[in-house]
Amino acid sequence: EAKRLGRGRAFPYEPGMLEAVEARYALESDLKAAILHSQFYLAYQPLVDLASKQPIGFEALIRWEHPTRGLVSPADFIPLAEECGCIVEIGQWVLLEACREAMTWEDHLHVAVNVSAVQFKTAAFLSHVTQALAESGLPAHRLEIELTETAMVTDGPRVALALSALRMLGVKISMDDFGTGYSSLAHLRDLPLDRIKIDRSFVSAAASDPNSMAVLEAITQLGRTMNIPTLAEGVETDEQVAMLQALGCDAVQGFLFGRPARSEHAHGIDKKWRGEAGKQHRFRA
Ligand code: C2E
Ligand code: MG
Ligand code: MG
Ligand code: MG
Repeated sequence: EAKRLGRGRAFPYEPGMLEAVEARYALESDLKAAILHSQFYLAYQPLVDLASKQPIGFEALIRWEHPTRGLVSPADFIPLAEECGCIVEIGQWVLLEACREAMTWEDHLHVAVNVSAVQFKTAAFLSHVTQALAESGLPAHRLEIELTETAMVTDGPRVALALSALRMLGVKISMDDFGTGYSSLAHLRDLPLDRIKIDRSFVSAAASDPNSMAVLEAITQLGRTMNIPTLAEGVETDEQVAMLQALGCDAVQGFLFGRPARSEHAHGIDKKWRGEAGKQHRFRA
């Protein structure tokens, strides 16, 4: 079969390329079965207010428990799901599941849901959101939609319209991974945004790279001036917390404050924090 013909002889392929293509097809057909067989679950990671050190909400992050491969990273299967179109159905499931889960939390906490550009651009997206809210009973203001710049970049007017419609529902909008995509300051100017999430690459590089630090500083400054709260992703050390506080960043997310975990556990972290007035923090305040 194809595998034996390969090895760079019959095809101008690099060694291993054929196998990679085959693996991709296999994963894609597994993906289609995954929804049917309930192989997905959501992990939740706290979004933490930098001044009070209290969680303001949780980001829902999808996990795929593959029957033979074990846990598959969303970085590996989301692009596939976007290509085969399964992302629309998966995304619809994520929305409802996340809203339902958030209903079990204290009501000052919101849930942030990642939405793919492919999903966002379907005609049905708005109705999927309203359905998830209606079916779960979650108040719209407790749902935050995370979109990347790439999702917002093409077809500007239509994107702005869809965002305004979401906002009219009361849903919050967050720009994810800011600084890494087709960054345009026009997005910040023209789009209705409730939060800017600064990509973790800037946070991790800031200590050693003055340019990353400068970008961090500029984005937090811009957020402050434009009245859009900023959140820094990927915070792993006390030093990063101190730096972000000095820059006036509003909120943080990262392994230092909690890894993504199943809801029971993630919510347990929240209760512990609230109950013991911040004593449980792993960093020295
Ligand atoms: P994202 O939305 O930027 O999510 C943050 C990612 O950073 C998560 O990776 C999270 O586990 C990771 N992270 C959080 N804190 C730290 C830290 O301190 N250090 C490091 N090194 N990493 C940290 P994850 O869960 O693997 O998700 C990767 C990406 O997959 C997400 O990036 C998002 O773009 C996408 N994704 C995840 N869930 C969904 C989903 O339900 N729908 C869609 N469309 N995309 C999703
Ligand atoms: Mg996100
Ligand atoms: Mg992000
Ligand atoms: Mg990111």
